[in-house]
Amino acid sequence: MIKLKTKLPGPKNRAMMAERKKHVPRGVAHWLPPVFVAKAHGAIVEDVDGNHLMDWTCGFAVVNLGHTPEPVVRAIQKQAERILHPGFFVTPYEPYLELAERLCNATPGDFPKKAMFATSGAEAVENAVKICRAATGRPAIVCFSHAYHGRTYMAMTLTDKAKPFKRGFAPFCPEVYRAPFPYPYRWPGGGEEGADPDVVAEECFRHFEDLVVTSITPEKVAGVIIEPVLGEGGYVPAPKKFLKKLQAFCRKHGIVFAADEIQTGFGRTGALFACEPLEAEPDMMILSKGLASGMPISCVVGRAEIMDVPDVDCLGGGTYGGNPVACASALAVLDMLEDGTLLRQAREFGKTLEKKLRYFKDNYPVIGNVRGLGAMWGIEFVEDRTTKEPDDEACEEMLTGCYKRGLVILPAGTYDNLVRLVPPITIEPKQFEQGFEIAETVLKSIQKSRK
Ligand code: PLP
Repeated sequence: MIKLKTKLPGPKNRAMMAERKKHVPRGVAHWLPPVFVAKAHGAIVEDVDGNHLMDWTCGFAVVNLGHTPEPVVRAIQKQAERILHPGFFVTPYEPYLELAERLCNATPGDFPKKAMFATSGAEAVENAVKICRAATGRPAIVCFSHAYHGRTYMAMTLTDKAKPFKRGFAPFCPEVYRAPFPYPYRWPGGGEEGADPDVVAEECFRHFEDLVVTSITPEKVAGVIIEPVLGEGGYVPAPKKFLKKLQAFCRKHGIVFAADEIQTGFGRTGALFACEPLEAEPDMMILSKGLASGMPISCVVGRAEIMDVPDVDCLGGGTYGGNPVACASALAVLDMLEDGTLLRQAREFGKTLEKKLRYFKDNYPVIGNVRGLGAMWGIEFVEDRTTKEPDDEACEEMLTGCYKRGLVILPAGTYDNLVRLVPPITIEPKQFEQGFEIAETVLKSIQKSRK
């Protein structure tokens, strides 16, 4: 539970923030008030001043099973005692193979698959694009509005939002095209509640088809890459119908249909992958974050006949790609999720989360929309429910107000007006209640200041 010894931020946190400013460039992202963390377990992080804060960020939607889950820590320790870095290109090792096999079996799609590992999400995105192009011999990649795929050059090009991700870094990569993502709340013509997701799916698909058929031509398109639930772009689940149409279009035209499940994978949506409840079966999936509960590893897994096209020695996840300690950590995560108990827990928890957020929306007009899937939900703040003018200040006040009381939450969204809630799926009910009491106290005071 939250226990505060000092006013936040405490003295050591303030001193470390000053050090950070001295030695670390300001461009290195820092999205929250200072929480220099000393240790963490479950949903609780202990900062360097000895304060216990509740973490509903999971280190950017990574530690879905909570911080330092015991089986994962044990697996890491055991592997670290054996070998830290043989280098998969040099002297390969078993955990890489075991993890590849298990992910090939665990991902949707009853067809032969192969998997390769890299270190970060963005690196996996880069490799996915290379494989799409090599497999089809075509140049174009189609991505979507509000997308986030990382910060390396191709991943950044695929990412939509300029500030803070792209501004000042042009020129970007060629042959990247963007279609609208179905975002019902902000779809033109939608009322206060937003447009009907099925209608939005139809209209968005028409835009996509127009773009591909008219402006690019399908025989030039190598791959379509989509987040089944927008992450940084605002926690918007894609309507099933939209994904179904995209998938059918891709199959018809020999285009690789790729799902970026870096933020949505490994329990976050109440299933191993968001594609399961959303009933999509991509040709390729890009995974990271929750995969290894905090160890740096990412994966591209897809149809064997596509994955095998790049020539011998052409691909590599980088020197550290598929590091054995990270593989051991990922295997322990899969063991924890395998029998489905934690996934069921995530779905149950997600229902409670949804109920609470719907209650917030009914009672606080500063909230325009709440949405999500499973245990990933967002609260979109607006100045006015009719005009839907984004209220980024309310979002900022929510983050700061919660932080001062010991609850750490993250922003998101193209318009900087979204609070995303990604607590560990293993959070205890009393911790959840404590967090929500804080969130409501802060909401009440924001609402009061708006009257
Ligand atoms: N794709 C998605 C959907 C993400 O959420 C992220 C990170 O937030 C990435 C790609 C990039 O991953 P990384 O930061 O590990 O490069």
